Amino acid sequence: MSVPIDLSGRLLFSSSGYCALCRETLPEPCYWANFIPPANDAWTYKIVGFYNIGNEETLPRVIAAVGDLANAVCFDDLTVNFRSGRSLALKVNTHQNSGRQGDRTAHLVHLMCWKLLKALDPNLTQKSIYEFAQSTYSLFNTTHVPEGRDVITTGFTGVIDENTSRSDFGEFLKRVSRLPLELQLDISEACPSDWLSSLLTVCHSTSTLVSVFKRGQGERHVELICHSDVRSLCAKFVSIFGNRYISSLEFNEPSESSEEVLVKASDITGFKFAIGRYGVKAIRICYASNEPSEWLGDPTAGWIGVMYGSDIRRLRILCDDLKCIRIDFLDDSPIKEQPRLLLDKDLSFRTGDRHRMLQTRTTPPIRNFPKWRMCRYLPFFDEKGYMSSLTMFCTAHSITGMAASGLSLRSVGEQSLNRVAMHMFFQRGERIVNIWLRMPKIESESWHRPNIMVLTNLNRTHVFGASLVPGDRYHGRYKWTLLNEDPRSIPAGFFFDALTREGSSRKIDNIAFGFSGDEQDARYVDEIFLGIDHKPRIEDLGPKFKSMMVFIVNEVNPPTVMWWFNLSYDYVMPWNGNYLPPKISREQRHITEFEI
Ligand SMILES: [Zn+2]
Repeated sequence: MSVPIDLSGRLLFSSSGYCALCRETLPEPCYWANFIPPANDAWTYKIVGFYNIGNEETLPRVIAAVGDLANAVCFDDLTVNFRSGRSLALKVNTHQNSGRQGDRTAHLVHLMCWKLLKALDPNLTQKSIYEFAQSTYSLFNTTHVPEGRDVITTGFTGVIDENTSRSDFGEFLKRVSRLPLELQLDISEACPSDWLSSLLTVCHSTSTLVSVFKRGQGERHVELICHSDVRSLCAKFVSIFGNRYISSLEFNEPSESSEEVLVKASDITGFKFAIGRYGVKAIRICYASNEPSEWLGDPTAGWIGVMYGSDIRRLRILCDDLKCIRIDFLDDSPIKEQPRLLLDKDLSFRTGDRHRMLQTRTTPPIRNFPKWRMCRYLPFFDEKGYMSSLTMFCTAHSITGMAASGLSLRSVGEQSLNRVAMHMFFQRGERIVNIWLRMPKIESESWHRPNIMVLTNLNRTHVFGASLVPGDRYHGRYKWTLLNEDPRSIPAGFFFDALTREGSSRKIDNIAFGFSGDEQDARYVDEIFLGIDHKPRIEDLGPKFKSMMVFIVNEVNPPTVMWWFNLSYDYVMPWNGNYLPPKISREQRHITEFEI
């Protein structure tokens, strides 16, 4: 496909909105005359754009043009003159999130970042910068927070006068960038502006990454076939913006620069892998004995998935120029249905433990993991026992976060002070046995999100969420769904979809790897999945609680106490005996079964 052209012959592009080198968001473009940016930020307005004017099917043909976001009118008609005397006119849409459909992406970088990178590596070409920007676009083009402690690009301007000692500046930054990450972070936090920090990012990661990307091999599969015994799995790592990823994986080939995990001579059931923002962070082997291997790599803050398969000699990885982005088995015929769940925790149930998830809506696709879902999980119990209280944090419309306290406190979602906290305390031996969701009917287009009602084995109920008052004008727009009808199934925890965000306007189809979103920002629980254990013997659920009461749903008397909530009036009222448990709906139900 060639570049789209407007009626006056200008090639149409849309800006990526951030500097592809230091990853800072670019300033708002200014279209008024005579705008003078604040002195400390003036440097951020001067940018170089990289534009691919070739056909998409062939190798990129990249041109570069300088522009000024403080005088953004220049982007409406950007003229590029070639040595041959020919010239081209470009029209670049600089407004973020308003890209015209079909426009090609213009990768913009700060002029300062570009100069510094050229000083660090004079052999870099426009094409290599463009390919780097293009390869990382789907990763960086996100409002999500990076995993773990990324290189923070806050505050530095004013520390060093831009006009002095420029010749030594690249060298100085290069030295600073070799300091341990922690020191760099301390330096950047201690400094008042962001200029040095941005350039440091360029030194620290970009300069090495760009030269690696010059190999330009693109994505490719690598098969790890082994014809002898597999004794060990060896990985090499690459550090990208402060986080480590697996860059290559091999059998039986330990070397100085690699790490290895030994492979036991026992039955293998599959492997777990942890993905981070840019690729695969770690892998561990699962054995039939329920004792997994150590992690090869660091799974911290990663999203953990499971891939079933017994023949480790048939591993295959999908790589790009820098790192491994996917691991699976060579044959596409898995022994059983794969779970296709990426969880924010490394669940350690035993082989044979089965769980179900009831899904109420489809979720956005994850790059490189089609059909997979990313879920945050709040288990009701851990190896130490059952939770002693369950708290949900609510707004007038939604549940935004949940916490289970007990021997250890676990929480998911958002739970800031301005949320209303609703608590439920459990008595000794009390367990949740049924859960209802009150969901908006699809046709109602309501902004209200699910209410949750739980029923315990002591016949107590509790409702979490916004108003439930009958007769309010939204009442008819909802229906209740009982999630676990089978008396042998027992709720084991809540899942919610990490990628579903408040509002439909935010595009989420471009997210690459596991991102949970910003824990500091308001995040709404749009969809709630219920984790249900449906082993026949519920006594096995909490291993330390053999005395757990077996509870048959059909034999329950109507609940003795039911609480009514009305958040707007802040009142809670005991059940008066008139209201019966909600009706059951069977619509919109999809079940994913999985073992982990
Ligand atoms: Zn930059």
